[in-house]
Amino acid sequence: MDALRQIPPVDVALASLPGLALIDIYGGHLVRDALREIMTQVRQDICAGSGYTLEGPADPSLWTRVATHLERKGRPNLRRVINATGIVVHTNLGRAPLAPAAIEAMQAVSTGYSNLEFDLEKGARGSRYTAVEDLICDLSGAEASLVVNNCAAAVVLALSAHAAGGEVVVSRGELVEIGGSFRIPDVITQSGACLAEVGTTNRTRIADYEQRSGPETRAWLKSHQSNFRIVGFTEAPNRRALATAAHAFGLPLIEDIGSGVLVDLAPIGLPGEPVVRDILAAGVDLAMFSGDKLLGGPQAGILVGTQEAIAPLKKHPLLRAIRIDKLSLAALEATLRLYRAPHDPFREIPVLARLSTDKEALGQRADALAARIEGLDGWDGEVVQSESFPGGGALPEHPQNSVAVAVSHAGLTATALTARLRGAATPVIGRISQGRLLLDLRTVAEDEADLIIDTLTGLAA
Ligand SMILES: *Cc1c(COP(=O)(O)O)cnc(C)c1O
Repeated sequence: MDALRQIPPVDVALASLPGLALIDIYGGHLVRDALREIMTQVRQDICAGSGYTLEGPADPSLWTRVATHLERKGRPNLRRVINATGIVVHTNLGRAPLAPAAIEAMQAVSTGYSNLEFDLEKGARGSRYTAVEDLICDLSGAEASLVVNNCAAAVVLALSAHAAGGEVVVSRGELVEIGGSFRIPDVITQSGACLAEVGTTNRTRIADYEQRSGPETRAWLKSHQSNFRIVGFTEAPNRRALATAAHAFGLPLIEDIGSGVLVDLAPIGLPGEPVVRDILAAGVDLAMFSGDKLLGGPQAGILVGTQEAIAPLKKHPLLRAIRIDKLSLAALEATLRLYRAPHDPFREIPVLARLSTDKEALGQRADALAARIEGLDGWDGEVVQSESFPGGGALPEHPQNSVAVAVSHAGLTATALTARLRGAATPVIGRISQGRLLLDLRTVAEDEADLIIDTLTGLAA
């Protein structure tokens, strides 16, 4: 193996001109590590019979590989990607993109100090929860509210405070797993309560809850079925009747709403997701939902309910362990303010804006993107009809009509192209349908078309 013998010792290679140039930028330590890694690959390539040969310690192809490796290592691991999947609240892609107002609010409170826990009127210690409590109550009609790290934490807190040491009655049709191993039965156990299941998978009546309730019962829990639906011969009690029945037993009705919407989405063609205000008006004592699903804000868990239901949560020792941080709090307050006049949430909150964009507008953007892709050497772009989804466990049975661009590159399969787009500096994540890579315009912001073109241009090079 002559080719193997041509691989120079690491120290000799580092002393070459291209080696010294990289050391100038990255320092000796990083360049040595990168060189070792690339040399290992080179050895493997040679042994695999690639016919690869090195031309001395300054070999240009060797050093190009080292430079690329160093540049890639320098990229942040967590970074922006273009979501072209058509799933608006995509849990793997960071859920809700934030409104500019929310980003400005985070910057304002984190660049310097803030009144996070300082009462500016009294000049004394304050509570971090006051920043959003009134706003949430206003928007939901709740008597009281509290925010924590996320909705999963909100469920654990609510059950720990209200049901630890006792039983929680839940319908068998709602004993769901939401994903990421968040299973309602396990969460109840984790909160120190016992699960009392009632009814059947498809049918549960109020009498089932009543018959199972006794001196050990602390609450009735209702849960959103999230990504799961039971259809056909089904029956579930009406929320108002269920609340009335729970109250007759002196028990609170707690509801894990999951996504949670503050405004009715029926006018934009998405009926079926109950508005938080209506859930409370039906008599639910305590409800919780996410900040970063259909609400369109940062990761957070929002609890709303009666004074009586919220008060014990504010004193619970668990609260300190799951408290919201100041960046999320700032972004949440700014997002909630966009729900109030003179703002228009459907225009200013990115999640709602994406859900309410009509097909004509998506079609125009698809036409423009396809034309630009066609103009790139070796690339093809064709406008096709598509279906997009709200995501986030909400409205799974409500696909929306959307428009996509099917992209292809001469000589690359859809799978290979998908992998290349994932590996780009600004990754573009689409979805494969019938052997073609689709970029769905529903989830692509208007100003992201330039980034897509940049990524495609970079790949061809
Ligand atoms: C998403 C979801 C949760 C978890 O919310 P996070 O904010 O992700 O913690 C809990 N319950 C339901 C029904 C959900 O859909």
